[in-house]
Amino acid sequence: MKPMPCPIESVLLVDDSATECEAVTLMCKELGVQDVVCAYDGAEALALLAVPGFTPSLMIVDLEMPVMDGVEMMQQLRQRGLRIPIIVSSGHDGPLVRAVEGMARNLGLPVIAGLCKPLTRDALARAFECRDNVEQLHCGSPAAHLPDVDIAALAQAISAGEVVPHYQPKVDIQRGLLRGVEVLARWTDARLGPVPADRFIAAAEHSGLILTLSLSVIDQAVAQAASWNTRGLRLILALNISPCLLSEPHLVEAISGLLEKHGVSPSQVVLEITESSVVSPDGPALGALARFRLRGFGLSIDDYGTGLSSMQQLARIPFTELKVDRSFVHRAHEQENLRVILESALTMAHRLRLVTVAEGVETVEDWRLLQQYGCQIGQGYLLAKPMPAEDLLPWIKAHRKRLPLLRAPSLAQPPRHHPLHVSEDQSETRQ
Ligand code: C2E
Ligand code: CA
Ligand code: CA
Repeated sequence: MKPMPCPIESVLLVDDSATECEAVTLMCKELGVQDVVCAYDGAEALALLAVPGFTPSLMIVDLEMPVMDGVEMMQQLRQRGLRIPIIVSSGHDGPLVRAVEGMARNLGLPVIAGLCKPLTRDALARAFECRDNVEQLHCGSPAAHLPDVDIAALAQAISAGEVVPHYQPKVDIQRGLLRGVEVLARWTDARLGPVPADRFIAAAEHSGLILTLSLSVIDQAVAQAASWNTRGLRLILALNISPCLLSEPHLVEAISGLLEKHGVSPSQVVLEITESSVVSPDGPALGALARFRLRGFGLSIDDYGTGLSSMQQLARIPFTELKVDRSFVHRAHEQENLRVILESALTMAHRLRLVTVAEGVETVEDWRLLQQYGCQIGQGYLLAKPMPAEDLLPWIKAHRKRLPLLRAPSLAQPPRHHPLHVSEDQSETRQ
């Protein structure tokens, strides 16, 4: 049979079964692949990949293998920065293959497909066709969920400084005083209008723009913090860091450099890292987080309670702050299951000496419950929506009038004010 035109030149097949290797090699050849190289397990495959000049267009990786299985092999690929498109294959059922596929994507590996054995020619042909779609993936969810964002317009907007920071107040729950702001990126596309942050952030993660976007937003936000500092308003700046950025080799230096440029101390910055991000104990991400801490940055575990490994992450990573996800905060006063989770997360965080933050505070009832549970910082629409920098000072003035309502009933004394500040003192939220 005449081979069809095929986008794949060479395949590295990692599988300990000789029969499977033979069958898949034949199918690949029928699909037009020129070279198929077989490796018996992950260790042999990594040794082959270390040979100069050997870069297969694609790898088919079995999960169960002796010595080094497929999961460990993918973790090693991640560590070595090898970004060769992968098809995961396994004799196990679909849910297991999907779980490993998800893990590999969370590690930032370009996974094309997860296939159950025995592989068929049709399934392989379909997977081969997807190869070009995933080659540019840098991290985030599967290509099929790519948001509908004009990447060229986004790239242009970033370089024109049109992706800008907005600021949402983080307020001391017992006293009602402003402690810091979370920096949230905003972009208005000329054609589509305002694009929701989670959509263009996901698009930036997929298209490799996230580093440029983040550094641009951080640069603007740190400049703003420096300007507030000179007016006597020292606010803790909370910056969102995409999990995939943590494996960028120069991230720590790049962010530290921006702080130095504007004369802002790392002790004034908290990095928010979503807890659903898988940070492997030996990966580069953990190293980056440790180095940030060593330099004096605060680390917040964001969206706490939404991932599968919240407590494991807490044990592994030197966090200084725990931010309970809004799904456990808003309306907790009327739902017992939410209250139990909220209270136990806060109790645990207090015992770990972490600063406690609750997001999604929308009503006075939410606020009172958090006050009762001893939560330290609150953030949400009850206090303010994210706003441009120029709106913050007018907000502070208006907020002062609400202090008697927000202050805990046990705190009778009204605070002393700095002319610009709603805080009693300039102390930081972190211990
Ligand atoms: P996040 O870090 O969990 O940020 C909080 C989100 O909740 C923000 O949405 C904020 O506007 C919204 N929010 C605040 N208070 C309330 C409330 O009381 N109720 C409700 N329902 N929502 C509230 P936003 O700005 O649309 O951002 C969405 C997500 O996009 C953020 O979630 C964050 O993960 C990501 N993001 C935003 N800016 C950046 C950025 O500069 N870099 C990175 N890496 N991610 C960013
Ligand atoms: Ca956040
Ligand atoms: Ca959050």
